[in-house]
Amino acid sequence: MHNDVRVGLFGGSFDPIHNGHLELARWTKHNLSLDQFIFIPAATPPHKQHVSLSEPEHRLRMVQLAIKDWREFEVSDFELHRKGISYTIDTIDYLRRQFNLKKASLFLVIGADSLVDFHTWRSPARILRSCHVVVLPRPDISISHIADEMKKKVIILAAPLFDISSTEIRKLIKKRQSINHLVPEPVAKYIVEHKLYR
Ligand code: ATP
Repeated sequence: MHNDVRVGLFGGSFDPIHNGHLELARWTKHNLSLDQFIFIPAATPPHKQHVSLSEPEHRLRMVQLAIKDWREFEVSDFELHRKGISYTIDTIDYLRRQFNLKKASLFLVIGADSLVDFHTWRSPARILRSCHVVVLPRPDISISHIADEMKKKVIILAAPLFDISSTEIRKLIKKRQSINHLVPEPVAKYIVEHKLYR
């Protein structure tokens, strides 16, 4: 990797990955002129330690299936290999070291709900010093209470709103309702084949 490339990082539990993630990734990559865009499924996200997630292999596989026809996207199993709790700061430190990247090259993409929780993350100040933090709006999530000082440190994008969440998808499956309009076809098939979220 050249150290003047622009790399987007999109972490999450992706349980499952959905069309909102994909559309926003495409929009962000285009609007920020990113050269690379990497999905990074978390082993155990810190804020989801007490929630039972699907097996990491399933979540990784679904991301792989979702992006297989999109040459502009990549997936990294880095956090899954690291096991334990997946702290974003560790991932950023690793990528910066590994590829000798400057802050100017790294764009951490998060949804507005993640910005609301951001102060609870490990080393938020260091994350802000290590990369650009890019925030995507999300329906029903207000960021009006967030201090202006904080808002100045991040890039808030006027991206389109996608009213989709993995939680909603899991609920629909439990109710035996269709999710075909919410995830790419190979992901919907994978969920059925592996009887996920029943
Ligand atoms: P869950 O419902 O299980 O919490 P989720 O739909 O929020 O899942 P995650 O995998 O946790 O999906 O999301 C990864 C990242 O994508 C997070 O930063 C989250 O804020 C963001 N994100 C997910 N869905 C949307 C959406 N519809 N609009 C904006 N950001 C989103």
